[in-house]
Order: sequence, then structure tokens, then C-alpha cells
Amino acid sequence: MRGFIIGRFQPFHKGHLEVIKKISKEVDEIIIGIGSAQKSHTLENPFTAGERILMITQTLKNYDITYYPIPIKDIEFNSIWVSYVESLTPPFNIVYSGNPLVRVLFEERGYIVKKPEMFNRKEYSGTEIRRRMLNGEKWEHLVPKAVVEVIKEINGVERLKKLSQTDKI
Ligand code: NAD
Repeated sequence: MRGFIIGRFQPFHKGHLEVIKKISKEVDEIIIGIGSAQKSHTLENPFTAGERILMITQTLKNYDITYYPIPIKDIEFNSIWVSYVESLTPPFNIVYSGNPLVRVLFEERGYIVKKPEMFNRKEYSGTEIRRRMLNGEKWEHLVPKAVVEVIKEINGVERLKKLSQTDKI
């Protein structure tokens, strides 16, 4: 049995990790779609698909989970998005998502879609983590240790801060 989950993982945080650990108890293999793969270097999507894959692989090295990370670019065509995803991934039997659009699109194509339980949604949230990075607040405890290392390696916080600068005096 193979499960599919997609996220932007901007960045990959402890909420994502908890969901993946939970899913791994229900399925043999997990396909992890790296969503909006074409996006990077913006305030909402600072990290490249490659950097996000690094965050995931470095974290999951410490777990006995079989998974396939697949970068998936967005397309402006929601009604055929599921076929597009299927064309890029190994086959899967079940989808896990809390995202309403993802849920609707897969359900309409006959997939079983499970809504994972939320873990500390207030803090385990990409938006909150990026906000903290920008404001110089503590964010490191909200992501796996391996992700802290990757973000340091790529100077991720500096990138975010530079992106938030304006050219106005
Ligand atoms: P996300 O990184 O916000 O979340 C990924 C998954 O983790 C979601 O299922 C979410 O519910 C879960 N999650 C997040 N925080 C959690 C927490 N604290 N505890 C437990 N679970 C938590 O990513 P997302 O926005 O859901 O990603 C969907 C991707 O699919 C996007 O990249 C989007 O662009 C893409 N998409 C594209 C199209 C298209 O191209 N037409 C259509 C639909 C979706």
C-alpha cells in the first residue's frame, strides 16, 4: 500500500514530520510531493525544490520510512491536476491532505483522502516559522534539527531578510 502527501514544505517543520511518521504506520511506502516546485526566492516560498528535498531527506535519514520525494510544479489547470500528479509519481492508493483544494481534487477522482490530525498548528506552520525568521525570533525548535542545519548551510534566514528589503529609502 502506497500513500501520497503533497506540501510546499516552506520549510519542512515538525508538524509535517509528525504527519509523515503517522502515515508510515498506515502504509508501506510514502510518496512525498514537493509542491510548487518551481517557486523559490519569495517571502512565501523562499526555498528551492532541491533545498526542500534536502530538508526532508536529511530529516528522514533518522527514520525507517520508505519514501519517494517528487518535485511537482504548479499548473494553472486544477481540473486536470490529479492526472498531472499521477503522470509524475509512482501509483498510490490513498491520499493524505488537510488542504481543501487538494482534498476536493483527489476525492472527485475517486481517491480515498484522509485528513491528518493537526499538530500544534499555531506554531508548526510555515507562515509562523517564516515570520519568526524575519523578525529575529526563535524558530529553530519548530523544525527538525536536520532542517536547522540545511537552513544554516544555505543561509536561508539571510535570504528571507534580503527578500523582505525594499528599494525605498
Ligand atoms: P503545506 O506545506 O502547508 O502542508 C502540507 C501538508 O501538511 C498538508 O496536508 C497540511 O494539512 C499538513 N500540515 C501542515 N502543518 C501541519 C501541522 N502543524 N500538523 C499536521 N499537519 C500539518 O502545503 P500545502 O499548501 O497543503 O501544499 C499543497 C501543494 O499542492 C501546493 O504546492 C499547491 O500549489 C499544490 N497544488 C497545486 C495545484 C495546481 O497546480 N493546479 C492544485 C492543488 C494543489
